[in-house]
Amino acid sequence: MSPGKPTILVTGGAGYIGSHTVLALKQAGFDVIVLDNLVYGHRDLVEKVLQVELVVGDTGDRTLLDDLFKTRDIAAVMHFSAYAYVGESVTNPAKYYRNNVLGTLTLLEAMLAASVKKFVFSSTCATYGMPEIVPIPEDHPQNPINPYGASKLMVERILSDFHAAYDFKSVPFRYFNAAGAAPNGLLGEDHNPETHLIPLVLLTALGKRESISVFGADYPTPDGTCIRDYIHVSDLADAHVLGLEYLLKGGDSEVFNLGNGNGFSVKEVIETAKLVTAKDIKVVECDRRPGDPPVLIGSSDKARKILSWYPQYSSVKEIIAHAWQWHQSRHQ
Ligand code: UDP
Repeated sequence: MSPGKPTILVTGGAGYIGSHTVLALKQAGFDVIVLDNLVYGHRDLVEKVLQVELVVGDTGDRTLLDDLFKTRDIAAVMHFSAYAYVGESVTNPAKYYRNNVLGTLTLLEAMLAASVKKFVFSSTCATYGMPEIVPIPEDHPQNPINPYGASKLMVERILSDFHAAYDFKSVPFRYFNAAGAAPNGLLGEDHNPETHLIPLVLLTALGKRESISVFGADYPTPDGTCIRDYIHVSDLADAHVLGLEYLLKGGDSEVFNLGNGNGFSVKEVIETAKLVTAKDIKVVECDRRPGDPPVLIGSSDKARKILSWYPQYSSVKEIIAHAWQWHQSRHQ
């Protein structure tokens, strides 16, 4: 262990936001152990790129967890591992509740048994459902419209009850649209299957896909397409380090939105990607995707005030440029 810096267990550290956070933790001097079942995560990312210890397993494996907490001096847990395909959560909710809720509860009980009571949690703006006001503040009603959002909200509720009963301190972060790639080119977004707008647009620019589908051009927005709050994955990673440091200094449980507070439409994203890549990108307008609110923008004033978190990349152009750099290097 580095002098003065504790060891942090990062579940899902082989995934997109988890891996960028492991990089930020390393840069801040923390020792990191990654726990990942590698269903969607990438072994090489952890072992070769990030060069931290990887334990392959599930958060629902209590024996494995008890052994980890017994043999390692873990000060806090950052929990990224979860299934996150909204459409699949509708057709196979059992998979989502088992992994995202039951798996997390098992992890939390193992933490309690080991008296590790500091927890940074990957939540989502999908817990809000259809927004009543925009930008969405943290005290906005939470009425998720799909099992994925519901699974994350259930964990938020468990954390709030653990706080009251066991003095268990947590920082759940509700992300808006994570995007981009590490500016140093080491890491990027690599989902399989890929469903997110920015990587799909860039794969189209690379000729890996024929066209990009616009899911609905008849929304009540200026250009008819959905507006989202895109936040750079490295800014998200920095927020996690700040949230962890806040807890390690004795901070109380608090939930935070993480977004830029500005919105870009699907068409604006595609036009920006055309500029960044200097490629013609074929666009096909399709039906709406079920469950997409027209506008999702978050207020992150609370994270600025309490954590002094100031995102470095507020322009979607920079976010797309970093993603493009990574996609090009990966597919050359
Ligand atoms: N979207 C789209 N075509 C795609 C993928 C996404 O038009 O191939 C739209 C989607 O309907 C939403 C926005 O792009 O309005 C962002 O979607 P994404 O899946 O990236 O993130 P989400 O908002 O679902 O978290």
